[in-house]
Amino acid sequence: METYNQKIQIEHPNYSLFIKREDKIHPHVSGNKFRKLKYNLLQAKKDKKETLLTFGGAFSNHILAVAAAGSEHGFKTIGIIRGEELRDKISDNPTLQKAKDFGMIFEFVSRENYNHKNNPKFISKLEKKFGNFYLLPEGGTNELAIQGCEEILINEDADFDYVCCAVGTGGTISGIINCSKPSQQVLGFPALKGDFLREDIRKFAMNSNWELITDYHFGGYAKVTEELIVFINEFHQKYKIPLDPIYTGKMVFGVMDLIEKNWFPDNSKILVIHTGGLQGIAGMNNLLRQKKQIEIIIHD
Ligand SMILES: *Cc1c(COP(=O)(O)O)cnc(C)c1O
Repeated sequence: METYNQKIQIEHPNYSLFIKREDKIHPHVSGNKFRKLKYNLLQAKKDKKETLLTFGGAFSNHILAVAAAGSEHGFKTIGIIRGEELRDKISDNPTLQKAKDFGMIFEFVSRENYNHKNNPKFISKLEKKFGNFYLLPEGGTNELAIQGCEEILINEDADFDYVCCAVGTGGTISGIINCSKPSQQVLGFPALKGDFLREDIRKFAMNSNWELITDYHFGGYAKVTEELIVFINEFHQKYKIPLDPIYTGKMVFGVMDLIEKNWFPDNSKILVIHTGGLQGIAGMNNLLRQKKQIEIIIHD
């Protein structure tokens, strides 16, 4: 496990900016998904479960993380995938293909059935079909996941004034809030539209030193614009740091925009968390290619 803070040499005279390279934690179990799985895997072993079952969409970082971590730790893995049309297209989908290579078994369900994923009747149907399993919710967010994310900030991070991260279900930011110092402000950048997140975060977060910046979702979950793709490519070229289009690209775009607008107080020390997700670039590029739009450049 290798994660470190890397300085980003910005031109702004009054701010300093660092990025925590959680994307470097593991080659396949990226960033926050590694954190979120850590204590769940220990619990599954303790419960003597042999199978992990979880839910996700076509490009889900969580699905691939569960497949890879399951294979590494000797669990069978089952992925309940949103969208029946994907059943015959696994080989066109880099995320699902890799998850399959790690041994994951898929169950493709319609969007309507997928919406019942938290319904006990739906779960007991799955138990009849697949036997006993350890259930991981969509996106992997539960109490144990948040416990894992409480290890993202360490003592040497205490003098950052701002800690910024991308937000999906809100599990990661809740863990970060819980391990932040009262003197720090945690800024969350939702990757999707909607106001339900604040309530979800309030359930898990023990402190109130946080805020959501909702201006950088780029149209909603997994939606991208040419401006965002150009930003990701320029950022990579300039700083040699790859960003993903679903989460970290949008968050870093937001942070750089706020820096340009002098949003932060003078002398702010800012830390952004690179939560990983780089495996999603290939799938996004497939979509962009079909639409004849500019793609994300993959270096090395
Ligand atoms: C899943 C994910 C997030 C969102 O994490 P939540 O805990 O669901 O808020 C952020 N960044 C990346 C790269 C992710 O894969």
